[in-house]
Amino acid sequence: MPRDGSGGGGSSSSSSGTGANGGGDGDAGCLRPMDAEQLRECGHRMVDFVADYYKSIDTFPVLSQVQAPRGIYLQPGYLKKLLPDTAPSKPDTLDALFDDIREKIIPGVTHWQSPNYFAYYPCNSSTAGFLGEMLSAAFNIVGFSWITSPAATELEVIVLDWFAKMLKLPSQFLSTALGGGVIQGTASEAVLVVLLAARDRTLRKHGKTSFEKLVVYASDQTHSALQKACQIAGIFSENLRVLKADKNKNYAIAPQDVIAAISMDLSAGLIPFFICATVGTTSSSAVDPLTELGQIAKEHDMWLHIDAAYAGSACICPEYRHHLNGVEEANSFNMNAHKWFLTNFDCSLLWVKDRSYLIQSLSTNPEFLKNKFQASQANSVFDFKDWQVPLGRRFRSLKLWMVLRLYGVENLQSYIRKHIELAKHFEQLVISDSRFEVATPRTFSLVCFRLLPLTSDQDNGRKLNYDLMDAANLSGNIFISHTVLSGKFVLRFAVGAPLTEEQHIFAAWKLLQDLATRLLGSS
Ligand SMILES: *Cc1c(COP(=O)(O)O)cnc(C)c1O
Repeated sequence: MPRDGSGGGGSSSSSSGTGANGGGDGDAGCLRPMDAEQLRECGHRMVDFVADYYKSIDTFPVLSQVQAPRGIYLQPGYLKKLLPDTAPSKPDTLDALFDDIREKIIPGVTHWQSPNYFAYYPCNSSTAGFLGEMLSAAFNIVGFSWITSPAATELEVIVLDWFAKMLKLPSQFLSTALGGGVIQGTASEAVLVVLLAARDRTLRKHGKTSFEKLVVYASDQTHSALQKACQIAGIFSENLRVLKADKNKNYAIAPQDVIAAISMDLSAGLIPFFICATVGTTSSSAVDPLTELGQIAKEHDMWLHIDAAYAGSACICPEYRHHLNGVEEANSFNMNAHKWFLTNFDCSLLWVKDRSYLIQSLSTNPEFLKNKFQASQANSVFDFKDWQVPLGRRFRSLKLWMVLRLYGVENLQSYIRKHIELAKHFEQLVISDSRFEVATPRTFSLVCFRLLPLTSDQDNGRKLNYDLMDAANLSGNIFISHTVLSGKFVLRFAVGAPLTEEQHIFAAWKLLQDLATRLLGSS
């Protein structure tokens, strides 16, 4: 949670109430399914617990030490040894539960909100996001169609239109035009639903028997979520073109390779129908050339999807918005507010230019859900069940609305800029130590780097850098991850946890330098 926010402290728990736990007097020791006074008392205690957790978060090993070669939590399966085989038949107390959380659960937690978390990509929480999650749990609605909670659908429409304007998406992506935004659980679900929409759009044009001719294009840096979406959508695995990214362009896809692949496929009688472009790839934050890909897609009447799961957040800052230039020709655009935007998981934002394609692929209209406010030509309501895979959906727009309102766009821009500045500092530190190299140019808040191998090194520094990463992570002081680029084993340092400050960057770097000295000395 941001230190400048009003969050953190939390008032001490009220000791009045019905004595929900800690028991003593018979029935009072037992939680009733929903009793407002018990909720007040237990809720206060839980908020205190959470606030205390955040206050002391940097005292825990960032990566759970379950896999550590020492300590009590030695192995996968550690928890089975600590918990009973069967569910309790009598109620337990909240106190006993808190004890177990402290002793058995927290040691098995990897602390994604730690200021020393630099692995993968961030997954932000915040006070506003947390409060939004609480409120969503409170209403606990299942908002599949407008009538099941008009506020849920309408707030989602409004907040996604706000966000589209913050990103300066073309106006066709707004709900007031033919498009609109919808909250999915993850970027994986987003690419799946647009792939289904694109597939069916193409099959309507070419006939259902063309199924096995459909071809998808992406780079070898595209997230594996696309491959999974193809598996689910029934796209033949031999029809997924995974083109080698251009290492001279920081691992972006080369448009001429896409053009070449498409023309080969066309001459083989296949039907190119879908391009997945990425803004901020998972390995190295590469940005695919959207304008060129948009031209290609347009020329061949293909669907262009843009996956900006991580880097989309940066594009609310005018100085980073150019990375979205070319989005005008895209059919769909996705970014994860749950990554680097202070919105607790899950909250993946998907916009489409023409919602009718999603709805044609995903709508059903069973008798038991029919109502007079259904989405139809005559009604201007959206039934979001027709924009996603599941029927049921949570009231997720609340937390995004609260994040936008309680922080405001200017603070959110400063938040992003600060992380990018911290990443720049880390990059400078890497450059200043000749034992290391920056592996690819930094674009956002991810630094890809490695310890240079000695000339005698047998595997081009693979083991050396693996050992460096492993030692750093097992220290418990930081958590970083890795990737492989052009056969090089590269370390990834992604800045973006809400509590990360300059001091954490310096401490992480000092740790990596010390470990490097030790590793190089012993090799
Ligand atoms: C994180 C990420 C994903 C996967 O995100 P989920 O929401 O977990 O499915 C996909 N694409 C990119 C570029 C990502 O960074």
